[in-house]
Amino acid sequence: MKIDVLTLFPDMFTPVTQESMIGRAVEKGIIDIRLTDIRDFSNDKHNKADDYPFGGGGGMVMMADPIFGAMEHVGAEGRKVIYMSPKGKILDEAKIKELAELDSFVILCGHYEGVDQRVLDYWNAEEISIGDYVLTGGELPAMVLIDSVSRLLPGVLGNENSALDESLYSGLLEHPQYTQPREYRGMDVPEVLTSGNHKLIDLWKLRQALEITKERRPELFEEFVSHRDDLNEDGTKRFSKDEKKIIDEVCEK
Ligand code: SAM
Repeated sequence: MKIDVLTLFPDMFTPVTQESMIGRAVEKGIIDIRLTDIRDFSNDKHNKADDYPFGGGGGMVMMADPIFGAMEHVGAEGRKVIYMSPKGKILDEAKIKELAELDSFVILCGHYEGVDQRVLDYWNAEEISIGDYVLTGGELPAMVLIDSVSRLLPGVLGNENSALDESLYSGLLEHPQYTQPREYRGMDVPEVLTSGNHKLIDLWKLRQALEITKERRPELFEEFVSHRDDLNEDGTKRFSKDEKKIIDEVCEK
């Protein structure tokens, strides 16, 4: 997957693109993250990339011309363009899955008061927010997006199944996790997890995930249980009899 990032602060990306799992995915060639400094496309002798807003108001606005130059340089025509913006639709797992299907896309990071609207109109940019709060720039949101999309790409996570188990991926929040030692300061790991009985373990995980989701995110829980009688593509039931029993029990609680 090729991701072009247009930013005034490319150095901010170094820790994310060079470290840990994303760093390894870049090394393995699974993702190609290309950083383009918008300022390099300024035609101003001082490399100016922002100016005062028409109509007044505080702060500066990023000018269209350097961004157009950067867009043309990366070949954004015909590709999906995303603008990180507090005005956008809030990023969720469904959007991340949708982006993970693409071969390439372009992310534009705003700064100051944002970018000239003509950039967004011309490049048909989809505005995506990472939450209802305002940051100083689109760089951290872009890194959140890149990280969340990358981990769905085959080969990025050590264990291919780990993305499938994750909170929200299946529509539920994840069950609690435990590791060694079995007993720590008088607190034991739930017995079922050390039983070796994988069927019981899976059912325990499902019950925990259902209970946590019901308590913390009732709207996700309702959505999940509304599909409890769905069929798989091959016509088999989505949930086994035992799973269905657990879903029903948690619903009735
Ligand atoms: N004046 C803009 C407004 O009121 O909508 C806010 C501009 S903000 C200070 C500067 C830049 O940070 C934005 O252009 C955007 O790229 C980024 N940004 C800030 N908060 C964000 C969020 N919650 N999600 C995504 N991007 C955000």
